Amino acid sequence: TREIHLASRPNGAPTPDNFRLVEVDLPPLQDGEILVANTVMSVDPYMRGRMNDVKSYVPPFQVDKPLDGGAVGTVIASKAEGFAEGDRVLHGLGWREHAVLPADRATRIEGSDFSDSAYLGVLGMPGLTAYAGLMAAAEFKPGDIVYVSGAAGAVGSLVGQIAKLSGASRVIGSAGSPEKVARLLELGFDAAFDYHDGPVRNLLKQAAPDGIDVYFDNVGGDHLEAAISSLNVDGRVAMCGAISQYNATEATPAPRNLALAIGKRLTLRGFIVGKYASLKDEFVATVGPWLADGSISWDETTRAGLDNAPQAFIDLLEGANTGKMVVTL
Ligand code: NDP
Repeated sequence: TREIHLASRPNGAPTPDNFRLVEVDLPPLQDGEILVANTVMSVDPYMRGRMNDVKSYVPPFQVDKPLDGGAVGTVIASKAEGFAEGDRVLHGLGWREHAVLPADRATRIEGSDFSDSAYLGVLGMPGLTAYAGLMAAAEFKPGDIVYVSGAAGAVGSLVGQIAKLSGASRVIGSAGSPEKVARLLELGFDAAFDYHDGPVRNLLKQAAPDGIDVYFDNVGGDHLEAAISSLNVDGRVAMCGAISQYNATEATPAPRNLALAIGKRLTLRGFIVGKYASLKDEFVATVGPWLADGSISWDETTRAGLDNAPQAFIDLLEGANTGKMVVTL
C-alpha cells in the first residue's frame, strides 16, 4: 500500500518536493484494531502549521514519517469487537490508501445517505467549526450583521448560510475570485466582494454601509484590520484562522488599528473546534435538517488519487477550491 510522507519542511509556500509517495507493507492486525481501505481523505489549512517544527495545539508532523488527517473508509478486516468488514468509518489516518488503527479511534458512520466526503466537510470538522465559531465564539444573535472572510471555502460558506438561516439581518462574504463571489450570492449572501479588487477596508465599507456586528475571521491580516474598522460597538470577532499568514516567513504587521477595540468595546475570541465537541449534538440537530431539506448547499472540489494529494494541498492554500477540498482514493 502507499502513503505520503513529509520529505522536508516547507519554507514559505509548500512545493511538491516537500512530499514523498512511499510504498509500505501493512503491519499485522493486532487485537482491537481494524484495517480500513480509505475512500476519501481531507486536506486542510491547519496541516500547513503542522509542517513547521513548532509547538502548537497539535504536534508537528515528523520528517520522513507519514502525514495524517481526516479520512473516511471501509473496514476490510477487523480484530475489534463491534466492527465488521464493510463498516464505514471516519478516522484520523488520512494521506494513505490503507489505515491500521485501534477501533476506538474510529467513528462508525451508520444509516446515512450522505457521501463519505460529507463527513470531512459539512457534517465533519469544518461544519462544527462554522457552527460553534459563529454561535459560541462570536455569540451570534438574530439581527446581527455578519461578515465572513474565506467565504467560499469549507468553513466560510457554511458560516454565511448558517448565519442567514439563523436570522442575521445581513451577511457579507469575501473570497478570491469573481466566480466565488457569484457563488456566494447564489448561496444567499446579501453582498460579496473579491478581495483582489482593492483595499479590503474600502470593499468592506461599501458592502456593509451600516457596519458589522460579527466578523468570522478565516484570513487574518488586512481582512482582520478591515473588520476592526467596520465593527460596530459591542462587535465580536471569532478568530478561526489566519490563512493569509500561514506561509509567512516573517512576522506580519496587520491589524494596525487594534486599539479601536477599546472604544468600540470589541470582543476578539480565538477558538479551536476541538474545544467545542460538546456542541456536536446541537450542531447536528440544527444544521442536519437544513442539509436534508436543501436550505444549505455545500460545494466540494475533488482530486483523484493519493499521488495527487500533495498538489491538492498546495492548491488549497492558493484558493483552487470552492467548498471543501478532498482527495478520493
Ligand atoms: P477553505 O476551504 O476556506 O480553503 C482555504 C481558502 O483560503 C482558499 O480556498 C483561499 O480562497 C483562501 N486563501 C488562501 N490564501 C489566502 C489569502 N492570502 N487571503 C485570503 N484568502 C486566502 O479552508 P477551510 O474552510 O478548511 O478553513 C478556513 C479557515 O478556517 C482556515 O484559516 C483554517 O485554518 C481555519 N480553521 C480553523 C479551525 C479552528 O478550530 N479554529 C478549524 C478548521 C479550519 P480564496 O480564493 O478566497 O483566496
